[in-house]
Amino acid sequence: MSELEALYDAVNVCQDCGLCKTRTRAVPGIGPANAEIMFVGEGPGYHEDQKGEPFVGAAGKFLDEMLASVGLTRAGVYITNVLKCRPPNNRDPLPDEVDACRKYLTRQIELIRPKLIVTLGRFSLAWFFPKDAISRTHGQLRRLGDQHYMHLYHPAAALHAGNLRQTSLADFAKIPAALTKVREYESRPPEQISSPGRDLVAVSAGRDASPDPAEQMRLF
Ligand code: URA
Repeated sequence: MSELEALYDAVNVCQDCGLCKTRTRAVPGIGPANAEIMFVGEGPGYHEDQKGEPFVGAAGKFLDEMLASVGLTRAGVYITNVLKCRPPNNRDPLPDEVDACRKYLTRQIELIRPKLIVTLGRFSLAWFFPKDAISRTHGQLRRLGDQHYMHLYHPAAALHAGNLRQTSLADFAKIPAALTKVREYESRPPEQISSPGRDLVAVSAGRDASPDPAEQMRLF
């Protein structure tokens, strides 16, 4: 059994928070273990809870559409969530639940080592960058340490607010270029990689006084 399969087994029987009492099925994640891109959503909804698979409902359909718009397929990427079990009535995740579940996403990132983590929605963004606002960071490619990130609105938000649909598609369209940039970064000689910040574009004027390290690593 692979380490990823062992992780799925652990998630499927997890009882570390109250959501285990109301879930139908846990939803560990899906995709190849060598995926270059990892999408991280918020938590399973009704359909995901029934099926044990992430993003299979209406938001998932829109995610599939956006993937297709940049020539990607679901089978080629890794998809998971901050929470592995559905919050009742799709309420927001509670801090205790996010903390209890933290070890699973942490391990998935360690095992898959994605070149690019794409956060979907504010809870996913907050998991990585608690201080950031999605309205300001969406569509950006950023690097923190050696890990690259892009932040997108949640596909469900785009379904409910018509104006976010075009924004989401425009943000999504940047993913191939982001991946190219990450590949270039990762194929550099080590002495260049060990100079963080050397080629990084400064944050836009007026905000560069911010000491937030993630913000200073904005690439586009
Ligand atoms: N919304 C999410 O955040 N994740 C899913 O898996 C489905 C809907």
